[in-house]
Amino acid sequence: MARATVNRQDTVTLVAVSKTVSPSLVLEAYRAGQRVFGENRVQEAAAKMAEVSPDAPDAIWHLIGHLQSNKARQAAKWFDVVESVDSLRLARRLEAEVEKEERRLPILLEVNVGGEESKEGFSVDELDHAAAEVAELPHLVVTGLMTVAPLVDNPEAVRPVFRELRLLRDRLRGRPGLEGCEELSMGMTNDFRVAIQEGATIVRVGRAIFGERPRP
Ligand SMILES: *Cc1c(COP(=O)(O)O)cnc(C)c1O
Repeated sequence: MARATVNRQDTVTLVAVSKTVSPSLVLEAYRAGQRVFGENRVQEAAAKMAEVSPDAPDAIWHLIGHLQSNKARQAAKWFDVVESVDSLRLARRLEAEVEKEERRLPILLEVNVGGEESKEGFSVDELDHAAAEVAELPHLVVTGLMTVAPLVDNPEAVRPVFRELRLLRDRLRGRPGLEGCEELSMGMTNDFRVAIQEGATIVRVGRAIFGERPRP
């Protein structure tokens, strides 16, 4: 089957996923020119940022993991972007905390495109309603959609997942309060090439940069 080549003229933001990675290795990546880092746990990230930030003043930190509502305050203080907004309850908690910080927080809505039981994220069916509700929150800015594709051996198998996220984004952007819903955060070490072909604007890559992580 012939597949159209996707010609990407725009750029893709590389989020270097530094969960479990030491502050010194993060700084090494920073000195090599990397600016955007992704963490999945608030506590671990806060400690790392405190250590790294004096030497990396313009590093940008994305939260990419599930956030419990009771950690919303710390997340609102520490992170530049929260990619993993996966419930309305969390969105409302973040809104309240960001308001106290007197800032606006760019967020992405996490979508469980594959419909996996074990995954966080809005279902495809919930997304329209959720996006409309979050768009009403004045201190959160919906900048796009994020997904974690199912883990498979052949990255081609998840191409339809990435394609669907793009179609969902296309449908949402332009609706009231969602004018800035442009980003597609999809693709990790195993599947970022396919994700970029399908329109990713953000890829979240850990192991291909920092090496294998210790097993939990
Ligand atoms: C760990 C993680 C990544 C990076 O995965 P790699 O396989 O190391 O590239 C990306 N996104 C999320 C949400 C993660 O938890």
